[in-house]
Amino acid sequence: MSKIKVVVAGPRGKMGSEALRMVERESDLELVACLDHKFGGSIVKDIEGLPGFDALVYDDIEQCFQNVEADVLIDLTTPEVGYLHTKTAIEYGIRPVVGTTGFTRDQLEELTNLSEEKGIGAVIAPNFAVGAVLMMQFAKMAAKYFPDVEIIERHHDQKLDAPSGTAVKTAELIQEVRESKRQGHPDEKETLPGARGADYDGMRIHSVRLPGLVAHQEVVFGSSGQNLTIKHDSFHRESFMSGVKLAIDHVVKLDLLVYGLENLLD
Ligand code: NAP
Repeated sequence: MSKIKVVVAGPRGKMGSEALRMVERESDLELVACLDHKFGGSIVKDIEGLPGFDALVYDDIEQCFQNVEADVLIDLTTPEVGYLHTKTAIEYGIRPVVGTTGFTRDQLEELTNLSEEKGIGAVIAPNFAVGAVLMMQFAKMAAKYFPDVEIIERHHDQKLDAPSGTAVKTAELIQEVRESKRQGHPDEKETLPGARGADYDGMRIHSVRLPGLVAHQEVVFGSSGQNLTIKHDSFHRESFMSGVKLAIDHVVKLDLLVYGLENLLD
């Protein structure tokens, strides 16, 4: 069986370098190129800290896709770049698997439409950790019975977007089953702006950013006399890679965009 040819965008990043190690481990994947705005023209193995691949690094995505035969783009970059990469990949018929977070609703809608129009599958998942996906599903189950809920997400302090894609996705899933409700006291006032966190359909999302953290989330439900807390911790970025591999295996057979790893799990 022929290998799945992948391009990794953001190979020096915390997630991108982990993705390269995953590609190295998986016998059915082949790295054909990397995309990196600072190392165009280099060979992957010559970049400090990266695995020993002979693949070429491109700084221009169009040049990359014109020169290299690829099946899948793994994007782990920044919200602006990741959006452009995803769009370009679909236009070139290369299926994107996107872990980059921070896309707007409009961008997701546009990419969904483009993917459908071109018949080119794509997977965008704000969290590739299977445990985090289960945490989101359990939270959705609980929200039916506990409409008062606050989400507390904790990430390392280099993260660019807040709230996290996982927190937004959790809020969206909860919204599907929870009757819209403004929580807290009706006369509540913030004496310091932001003290109550972001407002999503009346529920609150709090973002903690500290060195030493990776990706953590608690969903806390309250009702009279009881609290329920659903919690997930990613202690290492390897926790995301089985989900990335699962998405690669699925995306080569897809002809539309799937948002969220839960839609690929049994
Ligand atoms: P990171 O360490 O800052 O890595 C981002 C990388 O993207 C950096 O190496 C950066 O290079 C590179 N980059 C910037 N512009 C680029 C361009 N034009 N072309 C190619 N590469 C470019 O961040 P990270 O922690 O790996 O996270 C990456 C993304 O994944 C973020 O959006 C994060 O929220 C998301 N994430 C997703 C999951 C998930 O499960 N879905 C889990 C964790 C993180 P420079 O440093 O030189 O600018």
